[in-house]
Formats: sequence, C-alpha cells, structure tokens
Amino acid sequence: MAYHIPDDLLAALRAANHILCVSHVNADGDAYGSVLGMTHLLHRLGKRAVAAMPDPVIPDFTFLPGADAIIAPDAVADDYDLIVCLDMSSPDRMGAVFDPLRHAAIPLVVIDHHITNTHFGAANWVAASCAATSQMLVYLADALDTPPDPTIAACLLTGIVTDTLCFRTSNTTPEVLEAAMHLQRAGANLAAIVQRTLNRLPFSTLALWSQVLAGARLEEGVVWVTVSQTQLRAAGHADDDSRLNSILASVNEADMSAVFTEKVNSQGAPAVECSFRAKPGFAVGDLAFQLGGGGHAPASGCTLDGTLDAVVARVIPMMIAARRAQATTEPRA
Ligand code: 5GP
Ligand code: MN
Repeated sequence: MAYHIPDDLLAALRAANHILCVSHVNADGDAYGSVLGMTHLLHRLGKRAVAAMPDPVIPDFTFLPGADAIIAPDAVADDYDLIVCLDMSSPDRMGAVFDPLRHAAIPLVVIDHHITNTHFGAANWVAASCAATSQMLVYLADALDTPPDPTIAACLLTGIVTDTLCFRTSNTTPEVLEAAMHLQRAGANLAAIVQRTLNRLPFSTLALWSQVLAGARLEEGVVWVTVSQTQLRAAGHADDDSRLNSILASVNEADMSAVFTEKVNSQGAPAVECSFRAKPGFAVGDLAFQLGGGGHAPASGCTLDGTLDAVVARVIPMMIAARRAQATTEPRA
C-alpha cells in the first residue's frame, strides 16, 4: 500500500498526546467513519483522543463503534495539543467545534480527499485520487504500523461504502477495492454495513421524496428539485437525504443535478443548502467552489443566503452555462 503521507503530518501525529478528531457539519458516512476510525487508531497508539462533531449524531450512524462517545461542540476543551480535521476542505466546515480564537494556539492537521481543499492546516495530506477520507486512513494505519482491528475496519469500510455508494462512483479504482478488501479481511462486515447505511429508508422519506420529485424540473441537461421547510416538517424530518440527489443524477436526460434545501442561517435569515452532482465527463466541483462551498468533480455543495426561489434563479443559469461549456469540450460519456 504505497502512498505518500507527508512526513510533517506523521511527525505531528506521533508527537501529540491529547488529540481532537473532528469532521464536518451535515455529516455523511465518510465523516463519521473517518473521525471514529482515526480516534480508534490513535487510541491503539496509546494516545488520548476524542471525536467531536458539530451536529448531533444522526440515527443512521449510531451503529458505528464509538459513536456514543462523540462529543458535541459545547463539550470541546481548549487544551488539545493537536486537532485532526477529517474529510473537510475548509475550516468553516467544523462549525461550532472549532473556535478560531479559543483554539488559535492548537495546530491543525488536515486529512482529506476533496480537490477543493484549501490546505488550511499546519500539515496537510490531501489525496483527491482517494474515493474517501476513510480510504486514506487505511494507508495511514499502515504507515503507523497499526493494522486495523475489526473496530477500526468497520468505521473505515463504512466511509468507503457510503462515499462510493457501494463501489458505484467513477472514482472506484482498484486501490479503493483493495482498501475495502483489506478492511473486510481485518474483520469489517461488508454486508452489514451496506444494509445499515444504503439499503434502508424510513417510510417518511418515501413520502417526502414523492412530494419533492413531483416538482422536479429538467432544463438543458440539468435536473433539479427544491425541498422546503414545510415539506421537511410534514415528513417529520430535520434534513433531506443525499440519496435524493443520487436519484436525480441517474436521470438519462441530465448531465448535472441539484437539490436545493431551504434552511435558516445563523442570523435567522433564509438560506439554501445546495447539493450538486455531475455525470462522468462533467464536473460541479468548481461551481460549488465559486459559490463558497466545495467538494469533488462529481459531487459538491455550498450554502447560499436567500430564499429558495432566489437561489434557484441564481444557480440554475450557472449550472446550465457550466454544462454547456463542458459539453462542447467533453462529449457526453
Ligand atoms: P452532499 O451533496 O452529499 O451534501 O455533498 C457532496 C460533497 O460536497 C461532499 O463531499 C461534501 O463534503 C461537499 N460539500 C457539500 N456542501 C459543502 C459546503 O457547503 N462546503 C464545502 N466545502 N463542501 C461541501
Ligand atoms: Mn468523503
């Protein structure tokens, strides 16, 4: 498993003893998998390590070993000697876990696979060719001479399975399959992970999707839906499910897709969370980055101030223009 891990990052991890591991707001399986996998790995190395997440752990991931020990922002101390930032391209993604004033003296190390990463750490390992941050931790465990035990393996395989939609995304290279195989051999239960993460859906989500999909729009190879707070509340949901965008992205007539979810920003003003997907041969990473967000070429996102109508009216013409520009240089796959 040859992979170049920056020496300064390895040295920082080896030297630290009291470490905070953190991942991003609106967390997905790779966020939970990498933050918990890293925490268990550091425990194996005999270190004091704590996992923190900006939002409460969502029920889908409470099955992960260590999920019950994840601390909330108000329990985060200020005396760590290192903060490990996992699966995030910019520090704002840590939400209230990281306070730039209170934590100013603590070095950050960044382990991430987003191409839009801003290298905001004192040491940065950004591997955009990896399909998941959890995949990177397979190589890190190897470099630290700590072969994954079944606990670490379960966390990391969850990250790989969820970020690749079970090995279906275009970045599922032989290396991804090798890393997954390594974790399965180390004791992770692939079938159980797939069942817990991808093959299940509350009935209320079907009800929400049926409402939302009834309003789907398709224009010039771009398909999108909006999800209002009223629709979310009627379904009893706090948030939507990223799998909704996977359905949109599978539409034959579309090269790009978007889900716009109505939110309220920290000042109480209307905001919209935008989630983007692109088919192979098309890219939405730059679009999200230009809008202050980030992600990968095939999957990205951002949050914009404004009402649903205003944000859709601003973003859809940008997507149509981007798709047009990309279609002329790269024919549809
Ligand atoms: P999703 O659409 O599944 O929420 O996110 C797709 C990808 O874009 C993920 O890798 C996620 O981390 C990234 N992403 C989504 N929203 C944002 C955002 O507001 N800022 C940044 N930097 N990345 C985002
Ligand atoms: Mn990820």
